[in-house]
Amino acid sequence: MHVIPPALESLIDNLAKLPGIGKKTATRLALYILRKPPSLAVELADTLKDLHQTIQICSTCFTFSENDPCDICSDPRRDSSYICVVEQSGDLLAIEKTSIFRGHYHVLQGVISPIDGIGPSELKINELKRRIHNSTIKEVLIATSSTVPGEATASFLLDQLQGHNVRVTRLACGIPLGMDIKYADKHTLAKAIETRSTAE
Ligand SMILES: [Zn+2]
Repeated sequence: MHVIPPALESLIDNLAKLPGIGKKTATRLALYILRKPPSLAVELADTLKDLHQTIQICSTCFTFSENDPCDICSDPRRDSSYICVVEQSGDLLAIEKTSIFRGHYHVLQGVISPIDGIGPSELKINELKRRIHNSTIKEVLIATSSTVPGEATASFLLDQLQGHNVRVTRLACGIPLGMDIKYADKHTLAKAIETRSTAE
């Protein structure tokens, strides 16, 4: 005899695979979905099913997008001489919310983290260097988080960008040490972009 019906248990197990969702929260979410009209479950399932068909990765900046190039890369009103380098698409979205940065982005798709087996070749660093080499980029703003892996990635990038004819800047004050930038409020993040300084 199953205390929890297998279909419900399967939903709980799948929800619990998501980051930040433990078994308890997964159970709460699954029961919520079950209590609501079936249309919610169908809508959720359809959205999930179509996700990978609809969303792709921009071949220029490597963010998630429905188009390639993405809406930011193809927007003529944005200044392509500025590139903001971020770890993940979530960081790009956080910076976009500030409405302060009007340049282009480059999403590294992670950070250097030897403990997780992620080295520079797993990230979009060579692609960044190629972009800088092939275009008229004046400034690269490194906006990695002020965590240990974020700092290590920033140092590596700084080293790699030496000798390229670009100004390399980093986010300045405002972001607390150890904080992931996607969790910073938009005013703090805006201040950090405004007061960025040349990286050393
Ligand atoms: Zn793009």
